[in-house]
Amino acid sequence: KEKINHYRNKNNISVVGRHVPEPSKTFYDFKVDPDIIENLQKCNFEEPTPIQKQAVPLMLEGRQILACAPTGSGKTAAFLVPIIMHLKGPERKGFRALILCPTRELAKQTQRECVRLSEGRGLRIHIISKIKKALTQYGSSSSQKFDILITTPNRLCYLLKQDPPAVSLKNIEWLVIDEADKLFETGSRGFREQLDEILKACDGNDRKIAMFSATYTPVVAKWCVHNMKGLVRVTVGQRNA
Ligand code: ADP
Ligand code: ADP
Ligand code: MG
Repeated sequence: KEKINHYRNKNNISVVGRHVPEPSKTFYDFKVDPDIIENLQKCNFEEPTPIQKQAVPLMLEGRQILACAPTGSGKTAAFLVPIIMHLKGPERKGFRALILCPTRELAKQTQRECVRLSEGRGLRIHIISKIKKALTQYGSSSSQKFDILITTPNRLCYLLKQDPPAVSLKNIEWLVIDEADKLFETGSRGFREQLDEILKACDGNDRKIAMFSATYTPVVAKWCVHNMKGLVRVTVGQRNA
């Protein structure tokens, strides 16, 4: 226990929550399949970053987290690795993971990283680019051969508002809100209403949320406390940056 705290301090990791698993020292300590470790190494990553060390084991245990770590500290892989591990391979159940990003550019970057880290698994990773195409692509009459959706909230809500909805989120297992500080700030009212709509559509019985942010912001933390059971907060770097 002392040793674990020392290791967290050394890596500038602070945690708040019950039964937080030990941070992983190396990629081999991640409880993931070997192909995922190989894919991480193919990216020339040598060692997990501090947020990856703590967020990956938490999400692998299915814990809901609020993760705050500086820009450029590897938050994308921190949520993609456990999601890829959980989804395993392709299924025909429609989207099982949803990643919300504040901009389309970020959605594209996240998709690229997801493709690299899941290489060899055949997961179908989609971003909503042409809304007209999206209106017919994902409906209930389609084959539902898609696994991960990465998108900005506007477009997704537009699809959800169709009658009948142009996409189903009922099989979503993981909802990731990336750059939560930005999403909550840009017309804070607006995003919260969109998030309510999206959560209502994610009505399966085992939906978990992971919130990622560059800064710790009270509005985001408050939302998490109210909406995420068993929440664990992980902060890397200055505690109140
Ligand atoms: P953040 O979302 O925290 O701003 P990113 O996930 O975009 O950061 O990662 C920043 C850069 O670091 C990316 O180019 C990414 O490929 C790289 N990176 C991620 N994890 C590692 C790692 N373990 N070792 C080295 N580089 C990494
Ligand atoms: P984002 O900000 O998520 O990238 P956009 O602002 O580009 O999304 O587009 C999403 C919004 O634009 C939706 O809320 C929708 O109302 C509107 N929109 C986009 N394409 C169309 C379309 N073909 N027909 C009607 N509305 C559209
Ligand atoms: Mg990021």
